[in-house]
Amino acid sequence: MIDTLRLTAEDAAGLLKRKEVSSEELTRAYRASIAERDPELHAYLHVTESADGDGVPIALKDVITTKGVPTTAASRILEGYVPVFDSTVAACCKDAGLPLLGKTNLDEFAMGSSTENSGFGPTRNPWDPERVPGGSSGGSAAAVAGGLAPWALGSDTGGSIKQPASLCGLVGLRPTYGTVSRYGIVAFASSLDQVGPLTKTVRDSALLMQVISGADPRDSTTVELPQPIELPEAEDLRGLRIGIPRELNEAEGMEPGVKQSVDAAIRLAEELGAEVGETRLPRSVEFGLACYYLIAPAEASANLARYDGVRFGHRAQVDGDLTELYERTRWEGFGDEPKRRIMLGTYALSAGYYEAYYGQAQKVRTVIKDEFAAAFRDFDLLVSPTSPTVAFRLGEKAENPLAMYLSDVLTIPPNMAGLPGLSIPCGLSEGLPVGLQLIGPQFSENALFRAGHALERAFAFDYVPERLR
Ligand code: GLN
Repeated sequence: MIDTLRLTAEDAAGLLKRKEVSSEELTRAYRASIAERDPELHAYLHVTESADGDGVPIALKDVITTKGVPTTAASRILEGYVPVFDSTVAACCKDAGLPLLGKTNLDEFAMGSSTENSGFGPTRNPWDPERVPGGSSGGSAAAVAGGLAPWALGSDTGGSIKQPASLCGLVGLRPTYGTVSRYGIVAFASSLDQVGPLTKTVRDSALLMQVISGADPRDSTTVELPQPIELPEAEDLRGLRIGIPRELNEAEGMEPGVKQSVDAAIRLAEELGAEVGETRLPRSVEFGLACYYLIAPAEASANLARYDGVRFGHRAQVDGDLTELYERTRWEGFGDEPKRRIMLGTYALSAGYYEAYYGQAQKVRTVIKDEFAAAFRDFDLLVSPTSPTVAFRLGEKAENPLAMYLSDVLTIPPNMAGLPGLSIPCGLSEGLPVGLQLIGPQFSENALFRAGHALERAFAFDYVPERLR
């Protein structure tokens, strides 16, 4: 009997290695869980009927191009698009023998923090189906937390792996920009997009990074990690200097229960031998969100120009000319959030405003990068809550884009600086998971995994949602 809610990917790999189960049996068990619980959760947009591989099955966020398997980015404009090629990360998973369970739901084009912006209906949080799983990788997070996949890939532009990991009680890694290929990833904001794992444990996260990371000749922004990813084993934090950036730990709108959990986690880190001290990131936190909401929509407006009704997916029925075809297709195919971002981005890039908005935002981005670099002169890692709140109710922020944008106020600053971040569950507030964000310098994935693993063991957080135990 395979307990898909409890089984980690590492344990699953152990069962396979010892021939106690076959990959088919594993895949069948996850498909049975999907049949049982996905009608409620709606973590998947597409479930495969068969898949090759002799390893641990996996779910992929539906921005990850998969040959012969529909890829929609949760947008009506890509409905019916079946790619003729694999993204590099999908190919890596295939090469590692990981059978594909299906494609997971997300906010349309990864724009959002709750998965409510999906063109195909929202995903629900396995901890409480009245609440959102976070976003935009909410489908991948709900799939893993709900036992519908042993592990999954998401993508993170402003926080879309870390924040849903936090809200669903999982481990989420946003890797250093450039360590995972973006070839075949439906582009949102190319200078920020990064694929990464959503898993139950830190070791699972490291195992999946071993599969997907590395330089790719098809993505010129990739590099080889300076050291190979190691499986973490350390149980203490001796010798580690942890900085607590004041502004990231006292941001407006932070729930007291979140703060308490994170403060307790920091005390535990000290007990495990870490040296803890305060640091500051005043400009990164004050200007991070504003800077992001110029740069990300600007890049999005350029990336989304390709959806014109001619090349992929949806095409409007029109009697008029080509311009009308473009306009009707885009009007019908895009939901409200992509339309909002296209307008914001086009405005920020327009001739008269380019320097005032986009140019200025790029300079602020450098200021943020420098501020983090200064903090890393004194500290090895920085910590904060991942999200200022636990999972919120469906509908609670859906009508207020600014309230929704604030969900990422703590994850965006390190992303702007290209830094890796790991979110691990550190406790509960009001019965819902709280995430701890660990931020490191570029290419510090091994240090993040080491610290995350030691903390995870000390927290002994139970990742199976309480109502499903
Ligand atoms: N919530 C942020 C946004 O809407 C980040 C999304 C992401 O990381 N893809 O842009």
